[in-house]
Amino acid sequence: MLIEPRFVKLNTRTGVEVRRTVPHAKLKMIGAWCFIDHFGPTKQTDAMVVAQHPHIGLQTVTWLIEGRIEHRDSIGSVQLIKPGQLNLMTAGRGISHSEISLSAGASNEAETLHAVQLWVALPKDALNIAPEFEHQGNLPKFEVVTNQGGKAHVTVLAGELAGVTAPTKTFSPIMGAELRISKGESFNLKLNSEFEYGFMPAQGSITIGEENAETSCVIFLAPGEEQVTIKANEDLILLMLGGTPFGEKILMWWNFIGRTNEDIVQARKDWNQRQELKNGRFTDFNDNVGPWIPAPDLPNVALHAR
Ligand code: MN
Repeated sequence: MLIEPRFVKLNTRTGVEVRRTVPHAKLKMIGAWCFIDHFGPTKQTDAMVVAQHPHIGLQTVTWLIEGRIEHRDSIGSVQLIKPGQLNLMTAGRGISHSEISLSAGASNEAETLHAVQLWVALPKDALNIAPEFEHQGNLPKFEVVTNQGGKAHVTVLAGELAGVTAPTKTFSPIMGAELRISKGESFNLKLNSEFEYGFMPAQGSITIGEENAETSCVIFLAPGEEQVTIKANEDLILLMLGGTPFGEKILMWWNFIGRTNEDIVQARKDWNQRQELKNGRFTDFNDNVGPWIPAPDLPNVALHAR
């Protein structure tokens, strides 16, 4: 199944536009992966700025291909991320964070911004854990020989691929990897037949079986596949995500994931009334970004997990 992205204006002061494939009317999740935003590559005329906003019930994963982004959060993390590295923020019961990309001119490397932001839904028994942040600066890499005798360069972002496991903290059976091969080459990968998978070219385009995916599109494979052959129609940077079907209904609203309408109403109230100062759910922090982003109004009807 092919999923085409829609264009979404981010709630930022500089209005970065992203291509979003998940969630989609035809594809709610890939394992626990419940959100895929692809942005860039774009020349930065100004820094990308995402002011303080909260999360509950999920992990955010920032995978950087080009540029520099600084992350700050309410548990005191300050972390610059560089290409090939991964920032993982586990919201648990609640965290707030801000992100700012280094502006053009700060360094040559920061001139272009190209990144993927992903969310991972936390299972029910991890919804109320304390928030955590981790930076993975040295993820495991390996090479696969392509069918043409070239090399596919693989970085494991989370979980396991071909016996290589990333140290990234996960709460359900998932995997993520970045794969790079040259135009015209193809390679075979063994799959976990209990997993469903999504393949998104961040650069270039791919063919899997009868399906072609352009940049920012996702090819989805349902569980049951033992292996896959991926052909690069152009020089390729491919994001691969997989996991066992999540098995729980979730309620996604704004930046929150819960199970019930009350979960969302309470989180929204705690954030907008700045209750973090009283009960510690979203502790305040300092950054160079400016005012926090209030949660929008709730719909007039109760929300339901789907
Ligand atoms: Mn966020």
